[in-house]
Amino acid sequence: MLRLRRTIDKVFAVREWRKIARKINYRQTHRENNKQQNRQRQKKWKMNHPKETIEYNRKHCANHRKLGFIPLNQPFESSEGHHIDKNFVVYIPKKLHGSISHNIQTGKGMTEINDKVFEWLKLSMVKLS
Ligand SMILES: [Zn+2]
Repeated sequence: MLRLRRTIDKVFAVREWRKIARKINYRQTHRENNKQQNRQRQKKWKMNHPKETIEYNRKHCANHRKLGFIPLNQPFESSEGHHIDKNFVVYIPKKLHGSISHNIQTGKGMTEINDKVFEWLKLSMVKLS
């Protein structure tokens, strides 16, 4: 019974996230110029650091193979994807993402960062409306 209750809570939480994310997406402007510039810069860095790139990709992929990837909002300029759980990803500002060290695999810091993410989502909704 408790288990069922938890599952229901989770489904409602996800619905809530999606609702908020949809509102943000609606108003999010796509800055194609910046996007392209960032992509160029990234490309250049990767070309100059082939070893680091391979190493990074290997680790990154190994860690993320176990995770689902269901984005709840669109990436934006200087955003990073953050896993709120093993399946759902929310794009948040890089600065916010780095403010609390956390680990989706061990669960360390996840409650703290997710609280902040939720706060940020609420605030960006207020700003947008
Ligand atoms: Zn994260």
